[in-house]
Amino acid sequence: MKAQVLLPKIFNFSFTYNSNNISLKIGDLVEVPFGKSKEIGVVWTHKPKDFKDIKIKKINKKVEKYSINKSLVEFIDWFSTYNMTSPGLTLKMAIGSKDSYTKKIDLSLKNQKKNTKKYKLNKEQMKALEYLDLVNNKFDVSVLQGTTGSGKTLVYFERIKKIIDKNKQALVLLPEIFLTNEFKSRFENFFGYQPAIWHSKITPKNKRIIWKGIIENKIHLVVGARSALLLPFKNLGLIVVDEEHDVSYKQDEGVIYNARDMAISRASFEKIPIHLVTSIPSIETYNNIQNKKFRHVKIVKRFNDYPLPKTKIINLNINKIKDKFISDETIRHVNIFLKKKEQVLFFINRRGFAPYLICQKCGFKQVCSNCSMYLTFHKKKNKAICHHCSLERRIKNKCKEEGDCNFIMYGPGVEKIFDEVQKIFPDNKVEIFSSDYMKKKKQTEALFNKINNNEVDILIGTQMISKGFNFPKLNCVVVIDADFSGRGYDLRTTEKNIQLYHQLSGRAGRFSSESLIIYQTLNPKDSTLNELIKNKSEQLLKTELLTRKKNKLPPFVRLIAIIISSDRHDLSMKGAKEIKIHLKKINNIEILGPVDSPLLKIKKKFRSRLLLRFRSGVLVQKKIANLLNSLKISSKIKLTVDVDPVNFS
Ligand SMILES: [Zn+2]
Ligand SMILES: [Zn+2]
Repeated sequence: MKAQVLLPKIFNFSFTYNSNNISLKIGDLVEVPFGKSKEIGVVWTHKPKDFKDIKIKKINKKVEKYSINKSLVEFIDWFSTYNMTSPGLTLKMAIGSKDSYTKKIDLSLKNQKKNTKKYKLNKEQMKALEYLDLVNNKFDVSVLQGTTGSGKTLVYFERIKKIIDKNKQALVLLPEIFLTNEFKSRFENFFGYQPAIWHSKITPKNKRIIWKGIIENKIHLVVGARSALLLPFKNLGLIVVDEEHDVSYKQDEGVIYNARDMAISRASFEKIPIHLVTSIPSIETYNNIQNKKFRHVKIVKRFNDYPLPKTKIINLNINKIKDKFISDETIRHVNIFLKKKEQVLFFINRRGFAPYLICQKCGFKQVCSNCSMYLTFHKKKNKAICHHCSLERRIKNKCKEEGDCNFIMYGPGVEKIFDEVQKIFPDNKVEIFSSDYMKKKKQTEALFNKINNNEVDILIGTQMISKGFNFPKLNCVVVIDADFSGRGYDLRTTEKNIQLYHQLSGRAGRFSSESLIIYQTLNPKDSTLNELIKNKSEQLLKTELLTRKKNKLPPFVRLIAIIISSDRHDLSMKGAKEIKIHLKKINNIEILGPVDSPLLKIKKKFRSRLLLRFRSGVLVQKKIANLLNSLKISSKIKLTVDVDPVNFS
C-alpha cells in the first residue's frame, strides 16, 4: 500500500511512501526516511503530480499515540490554498519540530491549583454570557463588544470555564503585546492556575511541552499569539479572539496571513463557536454584524460605573513656537491632575528623538542607504537609525560647505517630548514607555512596578501603551499631535486612527470619575476627530464603510498584493509588467499596477507592486497560484504574495 506523507518543510506537495504494512489513517504522525535523515511527517490526503519515476521508500514507523485530527488536515489544506503558501510550512506551524515527539518530555505539569478569587458578574455581563451560551457545539461567530473597563474578559473567562468543565479545549488569541504578566495574573486569579502561553519567543522546550500537552488533550487552555491558531488540538471546543480589531493579527513576514480571519475558518472546520472580543470592532467585523453574519452583544456600562473620560481639542497652531510641542493650555490641564497625585500620559507615536535630520548649512538629509526612509535620531544611542532595516549610523558627516554638518533635529519623537516634559515639570518623575526602553523583561517589569506603585507621575508613550494596559492612577492622556491626514498609501489609515484613539482614551479613568483626553492638533476642525470625541466611533465606521464601497475597497471586494522585489529597480518593474501579462489570462480579476511601492527600497531591495482585485466570495487563489508556479521567473526577482493586504507600503 502507498501512503501520502506531508513533511513540515517548504514543499507544496506530499511525498509518496510505502506504508510498510502499517495500518495508517489520515492525520497519523509517521517517521519516514528523507534524504539522509529521518523526518516526522503526517499521513495526508492527496496525491502528488509527476512522481512516477522516483523510488518509493518505506515508512519507518508510526509515531505511536500521536495523530492530528482530520479537521486540522483539511484546515491546513484550505489555509495554504487561501494564503497561497506552502502546506508543508503551514504543517510546520501546526506540529513543530520532530523533537517534540521523539524526546522524552515530562508532562506532569507544575500546575498546582491555587485559590481563586470570587468574581460576580453584573447584570449586563450576565446577559452577555447568556447570549454567548446560546450556541454550542456548532460553528457560530459572535462578537462581544464592550467599552474598555466593562469587564468583557470576565465574561469570556466564564465561557471558557464551561468548555473546560466538559473536558474540551479552549484557545484564546491575543495580540502578542498583550501576553503580559498582568493578563497572566488576572487569568490565574480566575482559574487558579497559569495558562499555557504560546508565542514566537517561548523556549523550544516550552514549545515541546505545550505541543505534547495539546495533542494528548492534557492541556485544556492555551493563550497565544497568532500562530497558536494552528496548534494540534484534539478536542477544541471554543476559540476567543480578544482585541479582534488589532492590526497585529496580520502576520506580514514569512507565512503571511491574518490570524483573526484564519481563526474564524479554523472554528468553521472544527464546527465550534468563536467569540470576537473588542471595544470597537474592525471594519470587516462591523460589516459582518450589519449583515447579520455575526451575532453581536454589547456591554455598555463600565464595570465600576465610572464615566468615560472628557475630551478636549487644543489647537496647536496658535501656540506654534519652534520645536515646542506642548501648549500652555495643555500644561494648565495637566497640572490639575499632577496636583492630585494622579498620572498623566503624553502620547506620541514616534520612537526616538526626531524623525528627520537636515543639515542647516548644506541641506544634507540623513537617509537610509538600504531603504527609501529618513533615519530617525535616537538620543539614547546617539545614532541615526532606520526603523525598517535597523541600520545605525553615526550622525557626524562631512559638510559640503565646510567642517561637519550641523543637523537640525526636525519633528517630534518620544525622546524629544521627554526632554520638553522634564523642562516643564521639573519636580515630577517622568518615564518613557517605548519598545526601545523595554527591550529586557526586567526593565519592563521594573517600569510596570513603578507605575503601579505610583512612583511615576508622567509617562511618555508610543503606540505600545495604547494596548490593554491597566494603570489605575492614569487619569489624563495628552495626544501630542492627533493627525488624521494619513499618508495616502494606507487604505486603513482612518480605521487605524479610530482604533488607536479609542484605545488610548480607554487607558484613562479606569478607576476615577474625573478623567480627561486632550487632543493637540493642527487641524482642530477635522471631522473624524470631532466625531470621535463625541464618542461616535461606530458612526465613523459606518461612514468609512460607505467610502470603501464607493471606492471598491474591502470588505466589498477582495485584494491580493503581489510584491516583486529585486536588487535593481528596472528588473522589479520589468518583472511586474511580465507577470501582469500572464495574470490577464485569469477571468474575473482586475489587475492594478504595476506601481513602485511608496517605500520603493527596503533592505536594499527595490519593490514594485501589483494589486489584484476581485469580487468577494470568489476563491481565485488556486488559479493564481497555478499560474505563478507555471511561470519561469528570473532568479533576479523575488515574488511575495499577500492575500488581504493590510499594509500597502
Ligand atoms: Zn533601512
Ligand atoms: Zn552639511
